[in-house]
Amino acid sequence: MPLSLPTSPRPWSRRAFAALLGPALALGALASHAQAYPNKPITLVVPFAAGGPTDVVARTLGTLLGRQLGQTVIVENKVGAGGTVASALVARSAPDGYTLLLHHNGMSTAPALYRKMSFNPLTDFEYVSQVVDVPMTLLGRKDLPANNLQELMAWLKANPGKANLANAGLGAVSHLCGMLFQKAVGAEVTTVPFSGTAPAMNALLGGQVDILCDQTTQTTPHIKAGSVKLFGVTTKDRVRALPDAPTLAQQGLKDFEVVVWHGIYAPKGTPAAAIERFNAALHVALKDPAFVSRMADLGAEVVPESKQSPDGLKTWLTSEIAKWGPVIRAAGVYAD
Ligand code: ASP
Repeated sequence: MPLSLPTSPRPWSRRAFAALLGPALALGALASHAQAYPNKPITLVVPFAAGGPTDVVARTLGTLLGRQLGQTVIVENKVGAGGTVASALVARSAPDGYTLLLHHNGMSTAPALYRKMSFNPLTDFEYVSQVVDVPMTLLGRKDLPANNLQELMAWLKANPGKANLANAGLGAVSHLCGMLFQKAVGAEVTTVPFSGTAPAMNALLGGQVDILCDQTTQTTPHIKAGSVKLFGVTTKDRVRALPDAPTLAQQGLKDFEVVVWHGIYAPKGTPAAAIERFNAALHVALKDPAFVSRMADLGAEVVPESKQSPDGLKTWLTSEIAKWGPVIRAAGVYAD
């Protein structure tokens, strides 16, 4: 005898099915949504001008990340106010994993340098990872009448207010380095802010400014080409990429140390699954032999794995805010 199947379920059985399957279907949809990340291009915001050291790290990593994630990583330069414009923008962006920020020490110095800020570095973000550490170099224009740090300090003291000290914007690390240098020397100089290191470096190469303190990732090729004067590196120890350059501390500027560290941030509320997926791709990118050796040639070092994590970044950021706040307040300088 043929089986007779009902052509349409009775109302009660439809409801029963929905009740039974509802939670399972919802979970399935969530899981497939999480697996789908990223399903469109990701924007990595950089707070300084294109062609500068932060931009170079972002673009080099962006290409590697894009390969790992199967999506384009678009680098967008949102310059202004020492990185606070970009930070505020990302803090207010949709927390969906498609807008991230690559920033440096500026995230930790901004709370002391700016009296008014529209975001809080410690509460408005999810933390992704630290990336690379980069030393800085103190440079002069090629025809500056000083050939070493002692001569530079004597020249600055003999010409109060005359020397132009370039930086990548008020609140940039080059600004911080310049301020610390000025304070250590006890000489007055005129600060000239740019929108990033790329234009500041061009001004130094063109002789429109006298001094610049900036990352080795940007300055090493110019130092090696002899198109600028090098007065020292800002790290505690010498930099392997520039073995002949003494540190500023070795030349008498006791305890002078500035290292540029970088972190990747997402807006608060970004799903943990998206951050984990991004971080997995980042771990692979940071191990890429070509990336590691390119960074080493430019004096930069990939951070140890312990720092390649949300906790590693948050802990470091917290300690840097605690470290620089008193130094900047004691110097009595503000960027706004
Ligand atoms: N090096 C710059 C700074 O001083 C920023 C940049 O252009 O990457 O913060």
